[in-house]
Amino acid sequence: MTVAVVGAGIGGLTAALALARQGIPVRLFEQAERLAEVGAGLTVPPNAGRVLDHLGLGAALRALGVRPGTQHIRDLATGATIRTLARDADLEERHGAPYRHLHRADLHGLLVEALARAAPGALQLGHRLVDVTPDGRMTFADGTHAGADLVVGADGVRSVVRQRLFAAEPPQFTGQVAWRGLVPTARLPAAVAAEPPGIWVGTGRLVLRYPLRGGVVQNYAVFVATDAWREESWSIPSDADELLAHLGDACPAVRALIEATPQGALFKWALFAREPLSGWVVGRVTLLGDAAHPMLPFLGQGAATAIEDAMVLARALAAHPMDRALALYERACRPHSALVQRHARLLGRTFQGEDPAALRRGPLRNEEELGLFDRDVVRVPLERLASAAGGLQAAEQDVG
Ligand SMILES: Cc1cc2nc3c(=O)[nH]c(=O)nc-3n(C[C@H](O)[C@H](O)[C@H](O)COP(=O)(O)OP(=O)(O)OC[C@H]3O[C@@H](n4cnc5c(N)ncnc54)[C@H](O)[C@@H]3O)c2cc1C
Repeated sequence: MTVAVVGAGIGGLTAALALARQGIPVRLFEQAERLAEVGAGLTVPPNAGRVLDHLGLGAALRALGVRPGTQHIRDLATGATIRTLARDADLEERHGAPYRHLHRADLHGLLVEALARAAPGALQLGHRLVDVTPDGRMTFADGTHAGADLVVGADGVRSVVRQRLFAAEPPQFTGQVAWRGLVPTARLPAAVAAEPPGIWVGTGRLVLRYPLRGGVVQNYAVFVATDAWREESWSIPSDADELLAHLGDACPAVRALIEATPQGALFKWALFAREPLSGWVVGRVTLLGDAAHPMLPFLGQGAATAIEDAMVLARALAAHPMDRALALYERACRPHSALVQRHARLLGRTFQGEDPAALRRGPLRNEEELGLFDRDVVRVPLERLASAAGGLQAAEQDVG
């Protein structure tokens, strides 16, 4: 069996690596001509850290990433702490796997190097997929073709594979625009730099901040309920004045963070939602990661669910004939990711509600409370994962 993975993002690289380590011949087609340092911070929670540990990347992940520590939920206007979340060394012990924040480019680089060792030559840059057929025939933008016994669309939120074979419905604008910025810590006033990481919540706004790269740089993201902008891209430049216009009432620490952002280090993108797909397999083609289940960022599980999918798919293909493997993969991952998508949306609403003080007590239904950190796609038998894929359902019924 040969597998072609389309898209060398976090999910596609993890899939290619996991497949190669199972001895399955794999090629990975990526549209980019060269690998550049794009993006900013992302979260590797324990459910994904467990997979990276298994793939031999645990030590590098621990070295490159920053452990979150105690995270504060604060009032956006006053800066007062409403609640704290313990995300320190204990968390790693509780869940048996690392939790780290790191620059997307650092995680990407780790995966690229590991794949080059496990399957030299598998990554083929400069291949932008423009068409795929259910029998696994791919056409690229330069007019070349390739085929494989199985094609895995890991081509991200605007997936060509999904659009061609699965669902052509247009995504819905969520009424949210997000900004992301990177600030060298040395540019911040000392008191602001010393503040612990976490989130600031206010009606229709949410600010998230955590350190990267040993703390020398601060990563932040700001989510604002507005329909002032509607383009979905990772690379639309913005500036501090545009963002601060939405944060007139924010406390000094948040304003100082944004004001310190260097030129060219602030980007914006509109958040779009896509309904869960009714199926993940068409002929010899399946999907993975954002191509299958793009989600809003409020649970910090976007990269993690892509990494989980990759592991489950590789395990299933190593253990079963293709049809059975794909069915098992879909059962283990599709219902689960649909619920994660839904909970991400709900948590965003909770954080941006009318009364930040309401977050002081009671369940948050965040990623730890939902049990997402404990999902073990490395060791739990696949059949059990498939039957437990609705493990989130109880929580979902509660929230309606
Ligand atoms: C440039 C970029 C920057 C990002 N920055 C951040 C960030 O700062 N923080 C964060 O939390 N998340 C970021 N993300 C999103 C995050 O990586 C994903 O949500 C998550 O990791 C799921 O990964 P994925 O592999 O499913 O998709 P992605 O990581 O989006 O990867 C998709 C890959 O497919 C490739 N591709 C797309 N279309 C085609 C095609 N037609 N043919 C061939 N290849 C194709 C893309 O170039 C990309 O390499 C970024 C994504 C991208 C693409």
